[in-house]
Amino acid sequence: MPVLRDCNFRLVFLSEIGNIGGMNELNGLFENNRQWAKQIEQEQPGFFEELSKQQTPEYLWIGCSDSRVPANEIVALPPGEVFVHRNIANVVVHTDLNCLSVIQYAVEVLKVKHIIVCGHYGCGGIKAAMESHNHGLIDNWLRHIRDVYRYHRERLDAIEDPEKRKDRLCELNVIEQVANVCNFTAVENAWETGQKLTVHGWIYRLEDGLLKNLNVCASAPP
Ligand code: ZN
Repeated sequence: MPVLRDCNFRLVFLSEIGNIGGMNELNGLFENNRQWAKQIEQEQPGFFEELSKQQTPEYLWIGCSDSRVPANEIVALPPGEVFVHRNIANVVVHTDLNCLSVIQYAVEVLKVKHIIVCGHYGCGGIKAAMESHNHGLIDNWLRHIRDVYRYHRERLDAIEDPEKRKDRLCELNVIEQVANVCNFTAVENAWETGQKLTVHGWIYRLEDGLLKNLNVCASAPP
């Protein structure tokens, strides 16, 4: 059996010990995958061969990790059309190398035309950020959302209905993250050189599957 050095776990071949970690339970996913690939090939012969040569997506999607908000499915786009970054509560932080690298690659190499920050109502990250009790490590991440609350405390506190207040924070969080994208150097540089690039803020409702445009839209200054 192969063993990873300096690790306190062992990699083993499934054939040697049978069902490990519930692997048999995942067989359905491989079957789903075969059916999915087969169907696409039937509808568009050569689809994967062609797509393997390059990707030319026009959109960068920055969304929440929530399993109910899958980027491609929501806008009914096939593989190759959307470059995606997701994290808890769709936050764009200027020290998050992961997110910044995605934006930089999307803008400078893929030359996407649109960056879409998409939040959603009923976001667990937003809800947790509004709670006072301790959530552990994730509280450090949620701090960014609490900052958004702090910037808009007056107008948020004025909303009596707690559900509506939460919904409004979901929207304001998207707007703040759009501003963060716009202040990122790769985006500023793109605009300075005349690259066509627009940043949008959208929000998704879990209850009806519909997107709403928050009408915050930024492009190169005139
Ligand atoms: Zn969420």
